[in-house]
Amino acid sequence: MAQEYDVVVIGSGPGGYVAAIRAAQLGLTTACVEKWINAQSAPVLGGTCLNVGCIPSKALLESTHKFHEANTAFADHGIAVTQLAMDVSAMQQRKQAVVNKLTTGVSGLFEANGVALINGHGQLHEDCLVKVTAADGSITELKAGHVILAAGSVPVKIPPAPLQGDLIVDNVGALDMAAVPGRLGIIGAGVIGLEMASIWKRLGSEVVILEAMDKFLAVADQDIAREGLTLLKKQGLDIRLNTLVSATEVVDNQVKVSYKDSGGEVQQLTFDKLIVAVGRAPYTQGLLAADSGVQLDERGFVFVDNQCRTDAPNVFAIGDIVRGPMLAHKASEEGMMVADLIAGNQAETNYHCIPGVIYTHPEMAWVGRMEQDLKAEGVDYKVGKFPFAATGRAMAAHDTDGFVKLLADANTDRILGCHIIGAHASELIAQVVIAMEFGSSAEDLALTVFAHPSLSEAVHEAALAVGNHAIHMANRRARK
Ligand code: FAD
Ligand code: AMP
Repeated sequence: MAQEYDVVVIGSGPGGYVAAIRAAQLGLTTACVEKWINAQSAPVLGGTCLNVGCIPSKALLESTHKFHEANTAFADHGIAVTQLAMDVSAMQQRKQAVVNKLTTGVSGLFEANGVALINGHGQLHEDCLVKVTAADGSITELKAGHVILAAGSVPVKIPPAPLQGDLIVDNVGALDMAAVPGRLGIIGAGVIGLEMASIWKRLGSEVVILEAMDKFLAVADQDIAREGLTLLKKQGLDIRLNTLVSATEVVDNQVKVSYKDSGGEVQQLTFDKLIVAVGRAPYTQGLLAADSGVQLDERGFVFVDNQCRTDAPNVFAIGDIVRGPMLAHKASEEGMMVADLIAGNQAETNYHCIPGVIYTHPEMAWVGRMEQDLKAEGVDYKVGKFPFAATGRAMAAHDTDGFVKLLADANTDRILGCHIIGAHASELIAQVVIAMEFGSSAEDLALTVFAHPSLSEAVHEAALAVGNHAIHMANRRARK
C-alpha cells in the first residue's frame, strides 16, 4: 500500500526544503524525499547549497578574507601582526561545523513542522506516484495529491578535463582541500571559479584562471565586469580570457593542462591542483519514469510555465532543474510560490527582481536590467553612478574600491536596475531590490534618508546622481 500525502517534494535543497516547510505550514500533509547521505551513512538535508555550495564557500571566503586582511590591511590601521599563520585544517573544521549546524537545523525544522523525511532516490511515475529506492534497495511507494520536483543541479563535466582524485576536482573537491596548493589552475571564470580562486589565492596559491570566452563575466553589467577584472587582476589573479582548455594529463601527481591561447597557439601549464568550474547542469537522472508525463526542454531543464507547472497534472518543478538563474534564493522563492499555489492561494515569483551576487572582494551584486541590454534594446534610460571612494564610511574602513550604478527609465524615472561592486554589495543590493519591488523611482530613493556614515549612502548618492544632484561629487554639473 502506498503512503498518502497531500504533497511529496523530491529534493531537500533550498528549493525543496523551503517548499516542504511552507506546504506543511499551510496545513498540507507533506513528505520530502532526499537521497544525500554523509560519510557516516546518515541522511543529510540542504542539498548543494548547504553542503557543497553557498554555505561552505562563504565560510571559506570569510576565513580567508580575515586572513588576507590581517596580512595586508591591518598595518594601515596601526595593527602589527607577527607570526600570522593559517591552519587550513581548523578552517575546514569550522566550515564543516557551520554546514552541520545548518543541515541539522533543516532536520529540526522538518520535525517542528511535521514534514516526513523519506530517505532514498525518488522517481516520479504517472498520477503523482513516487517510488523511493532506499540505500538497501527497498522500495517505498508514496501517493501524492501534488508533487514538487526539486532535484537541483550537478557540475558540468567537459571531456578535456575528467575529474581525477584530489588533483582534478569540481566544487566539492575545491571546497575540501586539506592544504594550500602551490599552483592552482581553474577552468572557468564564472561565479564559482572566481570565488574558489579568491579563497586559495588569499592563502598564497598562485592562481591561473583559464576562460574560453573573450568577454569577462558576460552575465554581469559590463561596467561592473570591467572594474571587477581590473581589481581581481590587481590582487594577483592571473585571468586569461579567450583561452580554451583542450586536454589535461596527470603526470607525477601534477596536472598538465593544454589550452589554445588567444592567438590560437597551443600552450601548456602545470598545476598542483585543477578546479573545473565550467557551469552546472540540471540533474534529472533517474528522476522521471517513462510514464511521468513531465517533459524536458532542449537544454535538459524540466519544462515549466511561469508558475513552475510541468506538463504533468499536479506536478511542479522548482530551482536549478528549471529555467532561470541557478540561485538558492530563486529556488526558495519558487518553492514558496508553488506550495501556496497547491494550497489554493494566489502566488507568483517576480523574476525581474532576483539579485545576483559574486562573493569576491570587493563583492559584485546586481538586480534588474543591465546597461548593455538597455542600450541594445534602444530603451531611453538614465544612469546615476557613485564611487565608494567618496563615502566617509568606506574611507574609515580603508575599503574604497568600487561604485554603485543605478539605471532608471528616462521618461518615468522608474528604477530599471542596479549594479554594485564594493564591500558588502550583497547587503547593499537588497535596498534596491526592495525599492524595485515597490515600483520606486530613482527620486523615491533620492528622497529617502540614509544613515551617515554608511556604505548605503553610495546607493543614495547614485539615486541622486540619476537626476544629476549627487552631493559629494565635484565633477557633475547641477541641473535645474
Ligand atoms: P540543490 O541544492 O541541488 O538540491 C537538490 C537536492 O535534491 C539534493 O540534495 C539532491 O541530493 C536531491 N535529489 C536529486 N535527485 C533526487 C532524487 N531523484 N531523489 C531524492 N533526492 C534527490 N547560490 C546562491 O544563491 N548563492 C551562492 O552564494 C551560491 N554559491 C554557490 C557556490 C557553489 C560552489 C555552488 C556549487 C553553488 C552555489 N550556489 C549559490 C547555487 C545554489 O547552490 C543552487 O542554486 C541551489 O542549491 C539550488 O537549489 P535546489 O533546491 O534547486 O537544488
Ligand atoms: P558559469 O557557467 O558562470 O559557472 O561559468 C563557467 C565558465 O566556464 C563559462 O564562462 C565558460 O565559458 C567557461 N568554460 C567552459 N568550458 C571551458 C573550457 N574548455 N576552457 C575554458 N573555459 C571554459
